[in-house]
This record gives sequence, structure tokens and C-alpha cells, in this order.
Amino acid sequence: MIEVEKLHKSFGQNEILKGITLTIEKGEKVVIIGPSGSGKSTLLRCLNYLELPTAGTVKINGEYFVEPGKKYNENHVAKLRTNIGMVFQRFNLFPTMTALENVMAALTKVRQKSTTEARQIATRYLEKVGLADRMNHYPSQLSGGQQQRIAIARSLAMEPEAMLFDEATSALDPELVGEVLNVIRELAEEGMTMVLVTHEMSFAQEVGDRVIFMDDGLIIESGSPDQLFRNPQHDRTKTFLQRLK
Ligand code: ATP
Ligand code: MG
Repeated sequence: MIEVEKLHKSFGQNEILKGITLTIEKGEKVVIIGPSGSGKSTLLRCLNYLELPTAGTVKINGEYFVEPGKKYNENHVAKLRTNIGMVFQRFNLFPTMTALENVMAALTKVRQKSTTEARQIATRYLEKVGLADRMNHYPSQLSGGQQQRIAIARSLAMEPEAMLFDEATSALDPELVGEVLNVIRELAEEGMTMVLVTHEMSFAQEVGDRVIFMDDGLIIESGSPDQLFRNPQHDRTKTFLQRLK
């Protein structure tokens, strides 16, 4: 379970998150939608310790994950971060490493697995995303969809508590979106806890247990996909959804 309480984040004078309170149950799939600049990525980055909030807390299974003002050493942060996998719009693979090496890297460095064990685990997750036959390819030799599936395998190999997807398909050519959504769909069916920021509204409706609409650093409205998409309560939600049509 992830508990976010009164989370604020400012960059200089600019307050981007203005008090986000949100609980994500184990196994729940939460979809976040909202206009550009509303703070969706910033929220996900706070959940993954890529940003330190200005105020508020994030707890995972009752333990503090993010506490403002509290500095942890880098090793500790790297470990915390692997408990929550994050997949970005850009795939962020290491260009000089093969697919296999990309997935193995954190297993050996952060999890201190032996090379043999790391290779076994990495192979298993590359098989899971359907890329066992591309293990020895470099990112530049792979399609965007394949690179994104490797990025997902890399996160999954750490056996995270939850996965965060920040517009994981929006940098992909349309014909490559499906293969990545299939991997995410399969994970959802297996019961993975997930937070997804996405513009794929039909996918949001399909996998989401709950949809959250954010605007201007706040949660404006949240509900089941049916409620939120068919019967939005707030004017700002209505306007946003109207514009998508
Ligand atoms: P999009 O849908 O376009 O991805 P978003 O909802 O994910 O938008 P964020 O990326 O969270 O929005 O950005 C929210 C605001 O915070 C933006 O105005 C952005 O310029 C600002 N911001 C984000 N990161 C930083 C940073 N490191 N330094 C300064 N400002 C930042
Ligand atoms: Mg964003």
C-alpha cells in the first residue's frame, strides 16, 4: 500500500504540487489524467524519490519512503527506488549495454546478485516481455516498442512493490503501442500495483480501478473509470474530457 499525504512540491517560487493526498491499495491500478503541466510527472517522480517533496510524506507498507528534510545516502535511495519501478516516456536504457546487460545492471549493482544469478533473473524477465531473442542487441538495434519492453523488464527484475508508468507509450509510433500495452495489461492481470499516467483513454478505462483527474497541482476528482469518464462532477474535468473528443 502506498500512502501519500499532503504532498507539496515547489521548484523555486513555483508550487507545482499543492497538497496531494492519495492512498493506493495493494493490487490497485490507478490512472492519472490531467492537462499538461498539472503535475502528473512530478507526482510520480516524488513517489520514486527522483524529486524530494517540499512538504508531506510518502509511506510504503507503513514505512516512510519519502520524508522532506531527511537525506539518505545514495545507496539507500537506490535501494528504495527499486521497490517502485518507474517506466518513462523515453526508455532511458544504457546505450552501451545490451538488452541483457541493461536488465542485469541493477541486479548486480544494487541487489548484489552474482553475475550468474543476475543473468538468470534477467533472462526470465526478458522472456516475460517477449524479447528472449533480442537479449544481445543494443538499444540502437531495437525498435522503440522493444526498448520500452526492455525498460519494463529492467524494472520488473527488481521485483518491485509497485510500478509507475509515465506516458510509457506516447513516444512510440502508433503501430508499436499495442505490444507495450499488452505487457502492461498482462502485469495488471497478474495483480501488480500500478500508477499510470496515460493519454490512452480506452486503455485507462480498461485497466484502471480508479481514475484521478489532476489540475494545477491538485486532485480535482477521482472515481471509477465509468464515473469519471461518463459522469464527471467537476467543471474542470468536464472541460478536459470534452477537449479530448
Ligand atoms: P505533461 O502532461 O506535459 O507531461 P505533467 O502534468 O506531467 O505535464 P509536470 O511535468 O509534472 O507536468 O510539470 C508540472 C510543472 O512543473 C510544469 O510547469 C513544469 O515546468 C514544472 N517543472 C517540472 N520539473 C521541474 C524542474 N525540475 N524544475 C522546474 N520546474 C519544473
Ligand atoms: Mg508528464
